[in-house]
Amino acid sequence: FLLLCCLAAGTEATYLKYKDPKQPVGARIKDLLSRMTLEEKIGQMVQIERSVATPDVMKKYFIGSVLSGGGSVPAPKASAETWINAVNEIQKASLSTRLGIPMIYGIDAVHGHNNVYNATIFPHNVGLGVTRDPALIKKIGEATALEVRATGIPYAFAPCIAVCRDPRWGRCYESYSEDHKIVQLMTEIIPGLQGDLPANSHKGVPFVAGKQKVAACAKHFVGDGGTTKGIDENNTLIDQNGLLSIHMPAYYNSISKGVATVMVSYSSWNGKRMHANRDLVTGFLKGKLKFRGFVISDWQGIDRITSPPHANYSYSVEAGVSAGIDMIMVPYNFTEFIDDLTYQVKNNIIPLSRIDDAVKRILRVKFVMGLFENALADFSLVNQLGNKEHRELAREAVRKSLVLLKNGKYAEPLLPLPKKAAKILVAGAHADNLGYQCGGWTITWQGLGGNDLTVGTTILKAIKGTVDPTTQVVYDQNPDANFLKSNKFSYAVVVVGEPPYAEMYGDSSNLTISEPGPSLINNVCGAIKCVVVVISGRPVVIQPYLAKIDALVAAWLPGTEGQGVADVLFGDHGFTGKLARTWFKTVNQLPMNVGDRHYDPLFPFGFGLTTKPTITKE
Ligand code: BGC
Repeated sequence: FLLLCCLAAGTEATYLKYKDPKQPVGARIKDLLSRMTLEEKIGQMVQIERSVATPDVMKKYFIGSVLSGGGSVPAPKASAETWINAVNEIQKASLSTRLGIPMIYGIDAVHGHNNVYNATIFPHNVGLGVTRDPALIKKIGEATALEVRATGIPYAFAPCIAVCRDPRWGRCYESYSEDHKIVQLMTEIIPGLQGDLPANSHKGVPFVAGKQKVAACAKHFVGDGGTTKGIDENNTLIDQNGLLSIHMPAYYNSISKGVATVMVSYSSWNGKRMHANRDLVTGFLKGKLKFRGFVISDWQGIDRITSPPHANYSYSVEAGVSAGIDMIMVPYNFTEFIDDLTYQVKNNIIPLSRIDDAVKRILRVKFVMGLFENALADFSLVNQLGNKEHRELAREAVRKSLVLLKNGKYAEPLLPLPKKAAKILVAGAHADNLGYQCGGWTITWQGLGGNDLTVGTTILKAIKGTVDPTTQVVYDQNPDANFLKSNKFSYAVVVVGEPPYAEMYGDSSNLTISEPGPSLINNVCGAIKCVVVVISGRPVVIQPYLAKIDALVAAWLPGTEGQGVADVLFGDHGFTGKLARTWFKTVNQLPMNVGDRHYDPLFPFGFGLTTKPTITKE
């Protein structure tokens, strides 16, 4: 009897309300917060890079979140199992702390699970915007969530809902469109990633539907796509009306779909750094829009509140946290941040209520996601990585993202090409390079790499597999005149474009296709009937070559499933895509967006020729 009494008393004593999934989330947050020390609270607000997230660091500083910075992986070509083990090792350290609060691991899965070898890489957003197909983007969100979870990761820094107003911006391909209405439509990726928000949900409450879904992140708040001359991280000069009517609407949609997190933009609005903009982050996003998930900074984003970055770190910490940023991405200099913030709270520079608000929001997302119940990943989803259905879905997305800009010279359409052509030339480095095809944010940050970068099908390989077995396909990156003359080619597919790039390296003032693209077009298209396929993150200079080109296809950055390009070139499917961006004549016209007063494009927003699938007789 004595034993029973004590056992019962023991159970009673160890009952922790915050650990009880039957309790409402609000009660769990309140209970947990009341048990936390300042040190533990500040730790929750800190997100550090994987490479420094040792178990000791996690435990010592009560770190709340870890990320893989662009291309940061546990091992080259790491398998799903390797990822899970790496993430779980960090998680186990968090669970072993006094209160056992799970950390949340985040990664840039911006076109599929793009840091991970063998994942399905979908077209970048610039191509997806062309489809204007919310059901398709939702499925892409679902597939991406499964692949991210397959590696034990519950949080994706996506979608980028920037409205790119100037293609000179090196991140323009991360934007669905220059038109906010298309960007709004594409926020349907959020229920794909997170699950459908239940009908009776309160406005602004984050929602993530369990173990096969991930927390999403609408980024970069706000006006990232509107900087002057498209200069990355720069100043968006626009009046309040413009900001609210162009750059803000997709945030309304994201929040009404229960987006769990929002990332702040490096850019400024009318000269004020967004990372220090209390009116917009706290006043508008959290106040007016009632967003109740957490706001995360960008990578070293608070450092860049000052110019030069990190010039006055205490000021940056104060300005960023006071602006309303809840989780701070301080990849490496986290002890400096923790010391600084601790000092400021202890000296009443930043009120404890601000810290509590931040921690509540972070805990809310963790509770809502079920992380307290399911912190450690298992291996049940590993087969989802790069699976057949996902690759088929990506292939479909590629087909729908292509825009046919020109088809034939003399009223005689060139496309679709016959599968039984005698001899086809495929030219251009972009035809056989998976890295070029996928663009930035693929395996590595800037996306450089060749065909062993990951698993996929290049356009060349796809063409070879699509044509009739009797058709000869000859590949030459840069054929010379003799070669062209001495071969009797029926058609040429010339694949040109931009090299891969990501933020910091992608801004361009000339928007040219890379050499030898222009001379390749001139030489080949002069000699053989040619289709030019452009692989690029944005419209590029094409007008000078247009007269020579027989058929022109904008393929954007299609990802791993190059088969989608061949499907449409050879008529298994028709062209359906319509430009979601304005195609300029010369860069001097930029910025130029649909609806502008002096609108004089080469191909207008919404333009796109169509073809019918070829009916092949058996
Ligand atoms: C980018 C973000 C990204 C973050 C984490 C930053 O440099 O601006 O879009 O989510 O890095 O990798």
